[in-house]
Amino acid sequence: MFQRRNQTCRAAVFRAPGAPLELQEFDIHRPAEREALVQITLCTICGSDLHTIRGKRNEPTPAILGHEILGKVTEVGDPPPLDVDGNPVRKGDRVTWSTCVSCSRCDRCNAGFPQKCRTLFKYGHAVAEGRYALSGGLAEYILLRRGSAVIPLSDALADQVACPVNCATATIAAAYRIADQVAGKRILVLGAGMLGLTAAAFGKWRQASEVTVCDLDAGRLQKASALGADNIVDWKSHDLDDSLPEIVLECSGAPDAVELACHVGDIGSKVILVGSVKQSPPVPLDAQNTVRACLSIHGIHNYTPKDLGTAVEFLLHSSGRFPLAELVQTTYPLTAVNDAIEFAFENRPIRVAIRP
Ligand SMILES: [Zn+2]
Ligand SMILES: [Zn+2]
Repeated sequence: MFQRRNQTCRAAVFRAPGAPLELQEFDIHRPAEREALVQITLCTICGSDLHTIRGKRNEPTPAILGHEILGKVTEVGDPPPLDVDGNPVRKGDRVTWSTCVSCSRCDRCNAGFPQKCRTLFKYGHAVAEGRYALSGGLAEYILLRRGSAVIPLSDALADQVACPVNCATATIAAAYRIADQVAGKRILVLGAGMLGLTAAAFGKWRQASEVTVCDLDAGRLQKASALGADNIVDWKSHDLDDSLPEIVLECSGAPDAVELACHVGDIGSKVILVGSVKQSPPVPLDAQNTVRACLSIHGIHNYTPKDLGTAVEFLLHSSGRFPLAELVQTTYPLTAVNDAIEFAFENRPIRVAIRP
């Protein structure tokens, strides 16, 4: 057996906004108790990674970004980690895992917000140093910590379909958990990026009576149709006033859209804000309308391990029905990670992937 202590791998390191990522060698540490070493198969670059690279979000540095990650377990600790169903994770398993690692004991975990744990750790958002330096997706390997919510994946899901599940897809599963009853309801989705497009398909899977998607970009609206939207609306047409949705999912984060989301719904509608993950100007709230229309306005950020399970189930049921793999427009090797980032900024694809 080769001596893993001396084995190294490459990762792309983010040092400062605007600066190119730097490829760097890292030691690969053997997994300890309940840890797993995973060889990364694919990493899709999330919009929040791009916000970080542009300096619109603050992350500690140096960091290995990338949190939509798919991989194969190459080694497990003794004892091995357990997956979300309590089964041992094994060498060779194809896996996804929750971006958030939580303690399961603090007041926030107990209140149903493990993603806001008092001692939260997030893959792709940590300083890359020491034993756990390999903590992001833009790398050849990642060391999964004890307490990670791991889910084995069937080979039935294409890499491009499975990869975004531990950010975008699971976040939409969390938003629909808050929406609760979806079957037979009218849904409005604002924004047709990865979150909004996933929300359209998810709503149809949950048997919404009508899913309307609104965006500025005609190409993205076409994708929304392919992903199950019954209606597509050009934002500039101001054509939403009569739609009276019962559930509004705001996935764009644009202040105008957030404002609209909070007054366009039917009596008793649920407004779920998902897209506002970077600093943006405050929006006016029509308090009287909120009261008289008995609106519920919710924010949701990240997700719980259970939401991740729901997201995997959604993909298994929907990957044959909707062209989900096409949301990943192109794939680059890790050595060309800066080209991938440039492509993402210039062409605004739904997703670009890195295959180490
Ligand atoms: Zn993300
Ligand atoms: Zn906790």
